[in-house]
Amino acid sequence: MIFYKTFEEQQEFKQLNIRVKALLHMVASMVWSKKRYCVIVTDCLRTTEEDKALGGVGIHPTGRAIDFNFCDLNQERIFDSAFSVQLMDEINTVIPYGYGHYKTLIFHDVGAGDHFHLQVSRNRSTEILDKTLGRTNGQASDKPGSPGDQEATPETIKGAVREPESCAA
Ligand SMILES: [Zn+2]
Repeated sequence: MIFYKTFEEQQEFKQLNIRVKALLHMVASMVWSKKRYCVIVTDCLRTTEEDKALGGVGIHPTGRAIDFNFCDLNQERIFDSAFSVQLMDEINTVIPYGYGHYKTLIFHDVGAGDHFHLQVSRNRSTEILDKTLGRTNGQASDKPGSPGDQEATPETIKGAVREPESCAA
């Protein structure tokens, strides 16, 4: 089950990149089936200014990142470091970020408390999927500007880092 810290976060979640939303649902299903924990979404979209203030490098403003924690059905926070490590290993193995040394799922504290940070790359994850499916004509590509692309790109956000790939906040 997925909870949202605030109504605003729930509304923002709807605007995120479809791949990161799907991935969160998959993670939430795994977490529930293995531990009967829920997940609570604590942060989704940010303005570039908010992101910078939190030490981010511009990935939350693109709609490709979600912060969350484990919780119970009363939305009380759950800490489980052993399972956190297991979950990160599993997700990062099954769904690699696909660029550089960056991870799809990490657990960190950048000043606002410990939390998971889930992210997808701008289009490389899709390229990996395309290769897996044997597609070479780019039909499934989500490159900026292609039909159906709903992803905010860094270029559309004034002052954003041009190619934000690392994670912070
Ligand atoms: Zn984050």
